[in-house]
Amino acid sequence: MNETGVSEEEIFSLLNNAKKKDFTYQRVLSSMCTYPHEIAVKAHMQFIESNMGDFGLFKGTHDMEKEILLMLGSIYNCNSVEGYLTTGGTESNIQAIRAMRNFSRDKRSYDSSKVRPNIVVPASAHFSFDKISDILDIDVRKADLDYEMRVSVQSMESLIDENTLGLVAIAGSTEFGQIDPIEKISDLAVSHSLPLHIDAAFGGFVLPFLSTHPKFDFSLPGITSIAVDPHKMGLSTIPSGVLLFRNFEYLNHLRVHAPYLTVDTQYTLTGTRSGAAVAATYAVMKFLGKEGYTKVVDKCMDLTRYLVKKVQEIGIQPFIDPVMNVVTLDVPHPTALRARLSREYNWQVSITQDPKALRLVIMPHLDAEIIDCFVDDLKEALKDLEKN
Ligand SMILES: *Cc1c(COP(=O)(O)O)cnc(C)c1O
Repeated sequence: MNETGVSEEEIFSLLNNAKKKDFTYQRVLSSMCTYPHEIAVKAHMQFIESNMGDFGLFKGTHDMEKEILLMLGSIYNCNSVEGYLTTGGTESNIQAIRAMRNFSRDKRSYDSSKVRPNIVVPASAHFSFDKISDILDIDVRKADLDYEMRVSVQSMESLIDENTLGLVAIAGSTEFGQIDPIEKISDLAVSHSLPLHIDAAFGGFVLPFLSTHPKFDFSLPGITSIAVDPHKMGLSTIPSGVLLFRNFEYLNHLRVHAPYLTVDTQYTLTGTRSGAAVAATYAVMKFLGKEGYTKVVDKCMDLTRYLVKKVQEIGIQPFIDPVMNVVTLDVPHPTALRARLSREYNWQVSITQDPKALRLVIMPHLDAEIIDCFVDDLKEALKDLEKN
């Protein structure tokens, strides 16, 4: 660290240099994040010092957090919803599974030195579940997928045993944007008396705004918790995730006594927590409303269909029919193609793990013109690969 401070001018020249090395979202087709809405940015700045870790000091921000939960409860069909704003899908998933673990421990009072508990998740689950296995010291059993990358309910059922804490299903998988057969998995959870967590980190701000979509919310009786990320398709600022429980009973399994603060209990994983992200999320949700989000989702879905049409014209097929604004393409040598697109053409794309396909997320920062440029470059990059 420097001995004395440097001038503001110098600081901004350092910042500008750093910013130049960052990608702008324009040529990014690999990220589930995007530019936050300008209303969210303004709200974020206005509440920059607000700490939700000690919300007794920030009652106004806390009221906005409660309002966010009610708004989400209303679109996810639950009026008893409880929860809080997290740092994103990873924290929401960790806390949902921790609540399942505590719920089971308190109810069945199992001896954790004797049994190793497990959860059953789809093989397509986000890698945050590998962190969960490590942190909570539980087995994460991965159920098989069908040919369209949806989890097989039979495979899930075959993995359940007396040490199963609960089940997970995905509404919008990270890699393929696929939705599991959640209605059937809800029935499975009910018949085994197990809690069911829905990872809708990406899909939670897409599905409710599509004209038709399969059920994935609290209207299904087996679902006990849902994770959704406003910092993805919600157009809020980072860090903004939400963990929702069907009612207080589940949240209460996360209760910890908090000394020193204006409030005497905490249910969150982090202590100090961004009130700015709460204000940003509240502001953008109020500003856009259902109508605004429907427009955002419509635009992304139109672009998704446009991209599929364009790639089909050059002989490339999507790996599955896109369910939401995630497109996976069946291309030769996906890994080499991705490297080439990045190195020679300056595009950021990603590839799926198993099976390998080119993966593109069609976020609101893209438009038809940029898709045209991308498809032209894709065509060239494929030709380059054929030559080598
Ligand atoms: C993005 C994502 C996560 C992780 O969210 P972070 O905000 O990156 O922690 C978890 N699950 C799914 C399905 C996701 O798409």
